[in-house]
Amino acid sequence: MALSSDPKPELMKRFFSFLILLISTSAIAQVNSRLQAKLDQQASDVEAQVIEWRRYFHQHPELSNREVKTGEKIAELLRSFGIEVKHPVAKTGVLGILKGGQPGPVVALRADIDGLPVTERNSLPFASKERSTFNGQETGVMHACGHDSHMAMLLGVAQILAKNKADIKGTVKFIFQPAEEGPPAGEEGGAALMIKEGILENPKVDVVFGLHIQSLVPLGTINYRPGAFMASPGGFTIKVKGKQAHGATPWDGVDPIVVSSQIVLGLQTIVSRQTELTKLPAVITIGTLHSGIRGNIIPEEATMSGTTRTFDLDMQKILHEKITLTATQIAEASGATADVKLTGGFPPTYNDPALTEKMAPSLKKAAGEKNVFLVNPVTMAEDFAAYQQKVPGLFFFLGAYNPDAKFEIQPVHHTPDFMIDERALKLGVKAMLNLTFDYMYSK
Ligand SMILES: [Zn+2]
Ligand SMILES: [Zn+2]
Repeated sequence: MALSSDPKPELMKRFFSFLILLISTSAIAQVNSRLQAKLDQQASDVEAQVIEWRRYFHQHPELSNREVKTGEKIAELLRSFGIEVKHPVAKTGVLGILKGGQPGPVVALRADIDGLPVTERNSLPFASKERSTFNGQETGVMHACGHDSHMAMLLGVAQILAKNKADIKGTVKFIFQPAEEGPPAGEEGGAALMIKEGILENPKVDVVFGLHIQSLVPLGTINYRPGAFMASPGGFTIKVKGKQAHGATPWDGVDPIVVSSQIVLGLQTIVSRQTELTKLPAVITIGTLHSGIRGNIIPEEATMSGTTRTFDLDMQKILHEKITLTATQIAEASGATADVKLTGGFPPTYNDPALTEKMAPSLKKAAGEKNVFLVNPVTMAEDFAAYQQKVPGLFFFLGAYNPDAKFEIQPVHHTPDFMIDERALKLGVKAMLNLTFDYMYSK
């Protein structure tokens, strides 16, 4: 690499990048201090109400695509704020539309609204006692991913924005989306269905913001990342067919359990030996492996299933091709066959880099500079990704872990012990308000 020996161009360059920084910082300079102070005050004022809504939703969780009462409650509240409401959208979802007093862009804010088939295990006075059936199985229902808090925060934001209509430059769309966790088998749902039903059109959305509360991220902090932030999930099942035999005479058969074991090990080398890991990380996990009925029978078949995580769809495609190749060739080498079924094509949650850079100061303004962290990609998935495929979007994590709480069992998402510290909600409201106003005022 050639280096300039003359220091002047380097100095000039620095001076100009400093100038550009100054200009771009002032372009971000957003709302004036009077409006900012008003918004901050209103975010504090709405806190108790937001917590009350959160507790209501927490106590009455509904499963994906079954959020009937939840949707009705949201629609009723939005109407009471004077916001135009479309309901139901995508089965049980709600779209609120608020036109501001001044012309400007269309900003969409999204909250997901579904609960999970998990039975709550704590002594909260507003713990869920709801029960339902999922995939034919009876189960408790719980907001074990914190979507109750997402709804409550977005309602708080909606109420404040409706109060400040005259200051809004453009239009705000409030997306209350069902089935983020995935619709029941055989049903459509989630972000994809919201988009299919036209929520990003009329008026056309310019930008979308969303957040996820995080029960294991410290209270008062925000995590984000430009580019691929959350993973693209894939799935696979592999059915290995051998030949049944007496357990005493394996040479008479083809043992699908041994073949499956070799396939499981073979699949491990796809990520460790065949994937360019310096580009982006990848994961292959086999979560189930079933075969056989008793110890002295070599069965005919074995079935395994698993998940893949990648951060771009091309990499997913390569991973999936290698899974098929590895499974079928190992099976063939042993005289068995492997039938591989793959699912995928769901994009990663991708934060538009330019938008993320532009809006990071708004997050810092809400949480404080030292409380906002750039973090590594996360291998969980989030269907917010579907909106980001259509319009630039920014998705971030809101910390809700109380470091002083002495949890006997960590409050992990999707478990009966999931728990958030409600003091996080105020920051979520502030962050969404800042993103909305700063984006509009920087246009
Ligand atoms: Zn979840
Ligand atoms: Zn979630």
